[in-house]
Amino acid sequence: MDFRDHIRVISDFPKEGISYKDITTLMKNGEVYHAAINALVEKIKPWQPDVIVGPEARGFLFGAPVAYALGIGFVPVRKPGKLPAQTIGETYALEYGFDTLEVHADAIKPGQRVVVVDDLLATGGTMLATANLLKKIGADVVGLGFLIELTFLNGREKLEDYPVFSLAEY
Ligand code: IMP
Repeated sequence: MDFRDHIRVISDFPKEGISYKDITTLMKNGEVYHAAINALVEKIKPWQPDVIVGPEARGFLFGAPVAYALGIGFVPVRKPGKLPAQTIGETYALEYGFDTLEVHADAIKPGQRVVVVDDLLATGGTMLATANLLKKIGADVVGLGFLIELTFLNGREKLEDYPVFSLAEY
């Protein structure tokens, strides 16, 4: 299945010049959403993860069903101030300014094998910050999986320390 047939592309959203990849059209189609999750599961299974991590918010939509299908745990990475217990944070540069991601300090046991799932790889900034954050709490990040990859932004270069796959390239 070519998942691109089910991803709606919106020009000039959220600002001029951006060609936004809208995954809601894929997700509302049960057959296609199911196929996308199954495809992620098949790619991720050989990495033998103990835990799946998903960054807020669209990483939850793909990461959690993968964890469920594999019968393993899911750990959310969130924007500051959302997680109730003790957290560890990682701040990273955006095009304009900075952003921070947080995870519960006790979410992952040192040495646990972790795969991170997100909807889309653009510049790789979000995923690199997530991987760095997970390393801080002792996780062994064994792979990174995406539904969509914007190859012209070369996000993989930033993530060269990790195995990376995506299901749909633009
Ligand atoms: P990066 O940090 O530049 O790789 O951007 C990736 C993050 O931005 C992901 O968490 C995506 O959810 C979000 N993102 C960037 N562009 C798009 C898009 O076209 N559609 C949906 N999400 C996007």
